[in-house]
Amino acid sequence: MNRLGLPTNSLVNDLRAAIGAAFVLTQPEELRVYETDAGRMTKSLPGVVTLPKSTEQVVEIAKIVQRYQRSLTARGSGTGLMGGAIASQGGVVVSTARMNKILEIDVANRVAVIQPGVTNAWLCQQAYPYGLYFPPDPTSQLASSLGGHAAVNMSGPHSLKYGSTANHILGIEMVMADGQLLRAGGKVLESAGLDWVGLIVGSEGTLGIITRLVVRLLPVPPTTRTFAIVFDRLSDAAEAAILLLSRGLLPAALELIDSTVIAALMNAYPRLQTMLQGTRFDAEQALLLVDLDGVKDPSIGLETQEKVLQGICQELKALLCYRAKDAQERTFLWQAYHQAVGATGRLANAYFLQDGVIPLSKLPEVVGRLSAVGRSYGLKVGYLIHVGDGHLLPLLLYDKKDPEQINQVHQCGLEMMQICIAVGGSIGGTSGIGLEKREALSQFLQPVDLEAMKKIRAVFDPEAVCNPDKIFL
Ligand SMILES: Cc1cc2nc3c(=O)[nH]c(=O)nc-3n(C[C@H](O)[C@H](O)[C@H](O)COP(=O)(O)OP(=O)(O)OC[C@H]3O[C@@H](n4cnc5c(N)ncnc54)[C@H](O)[C@@H]3O)c2cc1C
Repeated sequence: MNRLGLPTNSLVNDLRAAIGAAFVLTQPEELRVYETDAGRMTKSLPGVVTLPKSTEQVVEIAKIVQRYQRSLTARGSGTGLMGGAIASQGGVVVSTARMNKILEIDVANRVAVIQPGVTNAWLCQQAYPYGLYFPPDPTSQLASSLGGHAAVNMSGPHSLKYGSTANHILGIEMVMADGQLLRAGGKVLESAGLDWVGLIVGSEGTLGIITRLVVRLLPVPPTTRTFAIVFDRLSDAAEAAILLLSRGLLPAALELIDSTVIAALMNAYPRLQTMLQGTRFDAEQALLLVDLDGVKDPSIGLETQEKVLQGICQELKALLCYRAKDAQERTFLWQAYHQAVGATGRLANAYFLQDGVIPLSKLPEVVGRLSAVGRSYGLKVGYLIHVGDGHLLPLLLYDKKDPEQINQVHQCGLEMMQICIAVGGSIGGTSGIGLEKREALSQFLQPVDLEAMKKIRAVFDPEAVCNPDKIFL
């Protein structure tokens, strides 16, 4: 069934009657805000944008959209990088921006019940007074929503020790294409029947619209030490990460930033320059940002962990191993890290953050090969690497005013994914498949896998109403 096509007046009127006229957007200047996501590689104006406040309103929207045979695309904060939240022409966007309530923080059971539009930073801020937090922490933490995290199974720097979003979702409520409500899991780990929660996490809005989540919170670690370590070569930083893990340490976070990105960051943050004692990042140097955490008494564990780390730094002749003096410096280092992508705005007017996974042992080789591919397209490439997990985020810098370059970025990104596959890695790191990586997915998976996935999707949504053109070509 063709679900493309511009919305009719009666569709808009029905939506207005269901959720209020002010929360149904149809004017081109309003719709433009929703035409792309943070990846900015594809643009497509939605037909209508709806801003529901409750599960009941999402149910109403789904029923109306079904009646008029249009498509539904869920949208959180639009910080996705792969075009997942972009609606096809004529499609109806369901923005969760107003579904932003923390419904409960259950301290005794260490869970929070939330609406999907709650942002990561807001949930952590509200849970901290109880000594709790939500550990997966994307670099987009200030803006991105928990619904978006669940939809793409987001992972961040601290996922190395504490797991990705999938490890922290206990319960999900989802509105399906026909308006039926599916409720799976709850406040406790549940394993009765098929694992719907596991299936829905990472399905990128193709099975339905998540309207409520029960998320697991963890106690804030009582002590943490943060280190900014500079190596002369990226390969030494990678080797340090390998040694750290092989010598039995599990840092809370282990992030590698290459010289292109760190130089841009130092420009933006002179304080970082002081901390890193004027180190020049003009060649192959790399920065390793390490969080070690432990129990309250530092003599138990943390001292030993630091000794191992310092030993490795000496062994590999780190140029500098700076330990943050206090909580304020720690926070500063991580805040600066979270601005790394934005800081490259000084180098180019647009970026595309590609996302793959590789075996850690292949890191230096793969970075060399990806940079060569970048050069062959005339593109500058920087790197952010969740190094402990082998999540590699090549940052392709380009000129958005040049349509030819946008094309080249697409091609270059695809070639990079092919290299990740060739070394035994994968294409799905942290940001989902969306529109941008559909071709790479079809090269990565066996046809039988793809078919099985499509069949499962059809069980939930036989007419592909929800996010119709995502994940699969
Ligand atoms: C600077 C920067 C840094 C980033 N760093 C990281 C990182 O470290 N790790 C990482 O994993 N990602 C990262 N991202 C990508 C992005 O922020 C995450 O994927 C985030 O989880 C997306 O959340 P969102 O609310 O913005 O979702 P959106 O972009 O709005 O949507 C993403 C996908 O989720 C679906 N979706 C959203 N809400 C729902 C819902 N309620 N029900 C069903 N489907 C839904 C959408 O349809 C879409 O397919 C980064 C992005 C930027 C711009």
